[in-house]
Amino acid sequence: MKKIFNFSPGPSMIPREVLLQAQNELINWNNLNFSVMEISHRSKYFINLVEEFENNLRILMNVPKTYKILFCQGGARTQFAAIPMNLLNYNQNADYANIGYWSYKAIEEAKKYCVPNIINTKKIINNIIYIKPINEWLLNNESVYIHYCANETIEGIAINEEPNFKNKIVVADLSSTILTKKIDISRYGIIYASTQKNIGPSGLTIIIIRDDLIIKKNYRKELPSVLNYKIIADNNSMFNTPPTFSLYLSSLVLKWLKRKGGIKYINKINQKKADLLYSTIDNSKIYINNVSIKNRSLTNIIFNINKKNIENIFLKKAENQGLYFLKGHSILGGIRASIYNAMPIEGIQTLVKFMNSFEKLYI
Ligand SMILES: *Cc1c(COP(=O)(O)O)cnc(C)c1O
Repeated sequence: MKKIFNFSPGPSMIPREVLLQAQNELINWNNLNFSVMEISHRSKYFINLVEEFENNLRILMNVPKTYKILFCQGGARTQFAAIPMNLLNYNQNADYANIGYWSYKAIEEAKKYCVPNIINTKKIINNIIYIKPINEWLLNNESVYIHYCANETIEGIAINEEPNFKNKIVVADLSSTILTKKIDISRYGIIYASTQKNIGPSGLTIIIIRDDLIIKKNYRKELPSVLNYKIIADNNSMFNTPPTFSLYLSSLVLKWLKRKGGIKYINKINQKKADLLYSTIDNSKIYINNVSIKNRSLTNIIFNINKKNIENIFLKKAENQGLYFLKGHSILGGIRASIYNAMPIEGIQTLVKFMNSFEKLYI
């Protein structure tokens, strides 16, 4: 089989050794002679799996005891609605930082439940995109929380500093950076992420929520039970049937990450991968990334080619070298390399080698 490197933005790469293990266990899981998909989510086998998964998540991310972890469905986008519905009374509002595509989608959804105070964070100076430092964001004193997306998966723009808003509740979409670097959970009220970027297949959403934000008696009667954090927490995330196969595969990925050396190890590799790619772009005469150094994404690296009509040739030739799914999002065009935890450094080395030889053909 030809060696393939998969730069898909999501759903994305899963470590091969995890897939091989899943293949091996598909019809005979835990020596039980059935698959993990065919058993009740309330059986002791499956409850053990979920408990171990949660425990590994707590260890890897250093989650304080005062936070609960909830497993939901519907992806990050469902949380765009669930968050205001759970946290806001009818007459309350929230701050929303507008950083890029996903921040904006969260704002559009929040508008159904409140009048969000939209914070425009972006500055463009000499064609370079800067995001205002967090301490310059103008929050509304009355707002209940500040929401932002810490890594804009489509534009490759990130907030790399930790939030520091004193008493304001911070709600962050970490879908594309969860488990890629160390974070201080105590600075957040809610962190949420869909799993299909750094953790496993799609179908599962992880919510890490400070205990006091699980509101006992919800203000909004119309809040669906399946989105109600109190109901989800009271039922150990088993109010309705969870996506059992996603949970299983994600649990294998967390064990893989632990074996490798956890966040500290993977972050070192992630940083190396990103540095290698950004320095190749910055040192080239044809590749351009216009995000300020401080706001560059660790996991989604975007670039354009400053010659007309050759991006499609680049993509085609890349595929011939086994470098797949490098096409940028349709709203932006260009090239995007998504390099989540499962992407080995060899993938970046192969990409960089290809980029250098491609450049030679065009200068
Ligand atoms: C992928 C992504 C989403 C959308 O996730 P769904 O699971 O499709 O709802 C939202 N936010 C960010 C930052 C993402 O990367």
